[in-house]
Amino acid sequence: MRYAQRMTNLGTETAFEVLARARRLEAQGRRIVHLEIGEPDFDTPRNIKDAAIQALNNGYTHYGPSAGLPDLREAAAEYIATDRGVTVDPAQVIVTPGAKPIIFFTALSLLDEGDEVIYPNPGFPIYESMIDFVGAKRVPLKLDEERGFAFDPDDLSRLVTERTKLVVINSPQNPTGGVLPQDVLDRLAKLAIENDFYVLADEIYSQIIYEGTHRSIYAIDGMPERTIILEGHSKAYAMTGWRLGYGIMPREMAAKVAKLMTNSNSCTCSFTQMAGVEALRGPQDSVAEMVREFRARRDLIVEGLNGIAGVRCHRPAGAFYVFPNITGTGRTSKEMENFLMEEAGVAVLAGTSFGEFGEGYIRLSYANSQDNIRLALEQMASVLS
Ligand code: PLP
Repeated sequence: MRYAQRMTNLGTETAFEVLARARRLEAQGRRIVHLEIGEPDFDTPRNIKDAAIQALNNGYTHYGPSAGLPDLREAAAEYIATDRGVTVDPAQVIVTPGAKPIIFFTALSLLDEGDEVIYPNPGFPIYESMIDFVGAKRVPLKLDEERGFAFDPDDLSRLVTERTKLVVINSPQNPTGGVLPQDVLDRLAKLAIENDFYVLADEIYSQIIYEGTHRSIYAIDGMPERTIILEGHSKAYAMTGWRLGYGIMPREMAAKVAKLMTNSNSCTCSFTQMAGVEALRGPQDSVAEMVREFRARRDLIVEGLNGIAGVRCHRPAGAFYVFPNITGTGRTSKEMENFLMEEAGVAVLAGTSFGEFGEGYIRLSYANSQDNIRLALEQMASVLS
């Protein structure tokens, strides 16, 4: 077959490749502790599952509107308005199968060839992939360990040109767990307004935060008309396999993204959306419980990693990842990924899976039990000593 040129520009997520390699070793009888995959190990709360079953029985088995069911658009608008302290109209909400399509649809609807996009590096690899795919120009913005993996606003300011169309931020962040402080958001907002660019604020981990409360750039004056919030149910409600996410965007853009939905998915699964309404409007204690458990695991893993020779681990304020600096071990990120898999039976990701500024780091997801985290730490300490 002769494939379209654009396919050569499409990237991927290496987490799935590492998972496949770990599974091959397991098939040979090896025990592997999985710290590579970014999904909560908790089950979807009972009330959400019950709402899906009820929806199935009540006939939510048909096509729905491309933009999403009115009930969920209203629930999402209400949730964002209350949580971020802003006003949101349900017409600004577009529901998608998982939150990932919001990245794709933002790129498709806003970017022309040659437009410049500034994005976090290390960062979620799909940003880079989508920028390349639509022929825009990627401009990586270095995240700084010394700043708790926030970026330096002066670095950002130097990267902005008249071709800058979009800046992507992610807070709390994958892969570092870093959270952007208010002063950094303020500087970004000022630059966005002065230079007339848009911001894609990936806030998928907004509820998984350990210090303070989540802050959104959307709450800053002048930003709602130039910000797209990416949100969804995958992480906070342990619903990765249900595929449910949404974007909040200016009304005019929402109409265009709804058209992209018509052309691609038609609509998001109807009974999943009704379960999503229950997630947002029902009891929230399971989220609080999950965050409590994640906090205990974070403390365990940070302490354990800092006790290993050559490893230095910043204590992240959100999400469920740590991004330790491994330069003291003398190994590169990729070498460390391979070494830990082969020698320690621990699956982690090289920091370079998240961009060139990830060199010198590895990512561990602590969406695994405390027992497994302890085992992984013991095995890592033993092979690295
Ligand atoms: N954004 C970030 C930063 C993520 O880590 C992920 C999932 O890993 C997503 C978006 C996509 O979420 P979903 O599974 O809902 O598509």
